Amino acid sequence: MSYARSRTQELHDGPVKGLDARSGRIATGGADGRVAIVAVDGERIAEAPVHDDIVNGVALGPGGRVASVSRDRRVRLFDPEAGRAYTTGRHDHWSLCVAFSPDGTRIATGGEDGTVRMWSPDGGAVESVTLGRPVNGIDWRGDVIAAASGDRSLYLVDPSSGETIRRFERAGQMLWGCALDEAGERVAWVGRDRMLRISTLDGEPTEVPAHLAQIWGVSWDRDAVITASADGTVARWAVDGTALERIEVGAWARRALMVDGRLFVAMEDGGLTVLEEDGRLIAPPVPVDIPDPPEVCTHWDPAVLESATPRCEECGSPDERRLCVTCGHVGCCESQLAHGTKHWIETGHPTTVPLPGAAWRWCYEDDMYAKETA
Ligand SMILES: [Zn+2]
Ligand SMILES: [Zn+2]
Ligand SMILES: [Zn+2]
Repeated sequence: MSYARSRTQELHDGPVKGLDARSGRIATGGADGRVAIVAVDGERIAEAPVHDDIVNGVALGPGGRVASVSRDRRVRLFDPEAGRAYTTGRHDHWSLCVAFSPDGTRIATGGEDGTVRMWSPDGGAVESVTLGRPVNGIDWRGDVIAAASGDRSLYLVDPSSGETIRRFERAGQMLWGCALDEAGERVAWVGRDRMLRISTLDGEPTEVPAHLAQIWGVSWDRDAVITASADGTVARWAVDGTALERIEVGAWARRALMVDGRLFVAMEDGGLTVLEEDGRLIAPPVPVDIPDPPEVCTHWDPAVLESATPRCEECGSPDERRLCVTCGHVGCCESQLAHGTKHWIETGHPTTVPLPGAAWRWCYEDDMYAKETA
């Protein structure tokens, strides 16, 4: 199969970090704090300012309500029929990811505070499971919740007891996303190390070098897996890890979902890009080669190690700032709008430290922690 761009809808001012689909409707959440709902054919159904800050994720529930999570910490529900949104709860730090239970009676969220929380959409008691590190991605199918963590582990959690059923530990870096298949029998997960991992719940994972830059999103399309990456491509995979197709989309792809034979891609530039099969046969894509990191970083040559700049210079965030040690630029972290990483892409300035404290050194060129030069 081959997919070609059919249209792009400009739905948000700034990156689209949230994307979900149900019953022929697509929901998006943007860095502009807005949630939008469109039909598969592009008809606009509803949109509203739901958060005061970046929307990190959305989930469409039965009845058309949209649950959303945000850098404003709140978990909110937008009801397009009533035309209003209300707050279901909040995390102790940014709320990062959200999924409905299969029957739609509960919502699971993950936060920078390291917890998975389960809420009733209409309020009431919340159950909290502490995993200990930021929970960046979440999904809920069958009787299992999958949670992708900043500690490089994928957790499978029993939603009734809160117990961890299984922990997959082998990723090289932070995880950003995970997805269970429709039956809740297989799971796929992705993250900063550019690898796609696929496994049955009790099997051994298949690991594939999947993209040339970090992978933000993963989803299932029946027996295929779809990944969305900061290398500007979306790829489709068989469950054994065979690459089926790679599609250039022209900017960071945050999330990609197949709905009724169309591929919907949430884009960093604010658009929702829709691709349709064009009937052409294509050759399978060339495998990606991810080089091993070098023994020692040779880029570490700091000119600036302190800064009084209190906020990200691009989006104003006061939290989790990254200082470019070449020129002193201050940007925000990956879990926000990745303005530190974008500064490296624009300038080639290779190394960074966190503010305040400069507790560690990161090299973008080598994609690893930078050690002292020899
Ligand atoms: Zn380096
Ligand atoms: Zn920023
Ligand atoms: Zn710089």
